[in-house]
Amino acid sequence: MSLDHAFQARLIRTVAERLIAHTEQLTALDQAIGDGDHGINMKRGCEAVLAELDSLAGQPLAAAFGAIGRTLVMRVGGASGPLYGTLFLTLGKVWTGDPVAALDQAIAAVMARGKSQPGQKTMLDVLVPVLDELRRGGDGLPARLRATAQAAAQATVPMKAIRGRASFLGERSIGHMDPGACSSALIVAAVTEVLEGLA
Ligand code: ADP
Ligand code: MG
Repeated sequence: MSLDHAFQARLIRTVAERLIAHTEQLTALDQAIGDGDHGINMKRGCEAVLAELDSLAGQPLAAAFGAIGRTLVMRVGGASGPLYGTLFLTLGKVWTGDPVAALDQAIAAVMARGKSQPGQKTMLDVLVPVLDELRRGGDGLPARLRATAQAAAQATVPMKAIRGRASFLGERSIGHMDPGACSSALIVAAVTEVLEGLA
């Protein structure tokens, strides 16, 4: 799969701008069960991505994924920087045009890096169900992926955090959406809206 430059630019810009637009929401979620920096961390990373947009849009998708991964590792910080960085770096490394195979390997790399699994109240609780839905394929996939991501982020509310800073709260992490699950759902929403021509 290769994308034309304008489409690739729209995809990257929409995702970055969507996360920046939700800085306050991500901050509030991380204030509830973390240290309050997830919104600012993602905003910093996304602003760095936007600053490189022309160059990112002009590269083959695999190279653009890799470049985004490097920028996120350098600029996001916190736990989420290396983890989102690993996701995109791995997409860049393994991309051959099959989104299922690439996302499968990229999520496996995040799990290895984070020593984490779904069910622990992290971004993986969105990424893994989204991959499962992607694997199902079929009609109306973008809208189904978006709905899956949204429901999966919501489903982190009653979970107890087992990984990351929120795990320090133990039972008190219950009752709040995981910030990284929220940012992952925002990414899925933005990507699928662009694929459908809605954004
Ligand atoms: P920090 O926790 O260092 O302040 P952020 O606030 O930017 O970093 O990111 C927190 C998010 O990172 C969490 O909400 C969670 O989704 C994700 N996260 C943290 N640790 C892990 C892990 N080991 N595996 C997967 N995701 C994780
Ligand atoms: Mg934080």
